[in-house]
Amino acid sequence: MFDSHAHIGETTASALVCTACAYEYDKLSGFRYKAAGSLPGYGKPDLDAIMKAASEGLCIGEIGLDRRYGCRDEQIATLRDILSIAADCDAFTIFHIIRDYEMALRLIDEYGIKRFMVHSFSSSYEMAREIIKRGGIISLSPKAERLRSFQRILTLPFVTETDMKTGKEEMETLEIWNQKLSILAFADVGRRSEEMMMEVLR
Ligand SMILES: [Zn+2]
Repeated sequence: MFDSHAHIGETTASALVCTACAYEYDKLSGFRYKAAGSLPGYGKPDLDAIMKAASEGLCIGEIGLDRRYGCRDEQIATLRDILSIAADCDAFTIFHIIRDYEMALRLIDEYGIKRFMVHSFSSSYEMAREIIKRGGIISLSPKAERLRSFQRILTLPFVTETDMKTGKEEMETLEIWNQKLSILAFADVGRRSEEMMMEVLR
């Protein structure tokens, strides 16, 4: 079982561990699958630190657009700076997008990002298809159950996540979530999710 998007907790190789700001990067050393990120609401990004991490083979994330925090133009400018690093290093990139999916997609196209995931996907079935068409992966957290097109999204390929700190509670949550989705999607969702992630993270 693999958690496609988690945060720093107990050391594990069973999760892609993402960060929200540079002060967390030092705590990533014990993890196997890890990402250096910068989220809206967590201050200015440390571009040098992100560049260093990406050139050492780390993923980039989470990064993104979130209308709940601060100035949108500033978020877009920050995202541009980081996507230029992602493109240069061909780093697998994890996006966090709240409501601003069209703009995120435009930037993904502009920077030619092909290896990426949109975590805790929260948009429409049509948007999910646009992401997949570009080579991206959609990741569903338990919040996805609230989406209007939840049932239709389950007919598409997706991975699963908790967005929790790694540890016992996280693994239990993931197991329940995978079981629930496996029944609804008529597939072994946990196994497929792990296979899809190993394919992009190898
Ligand atoms: Zn997260």
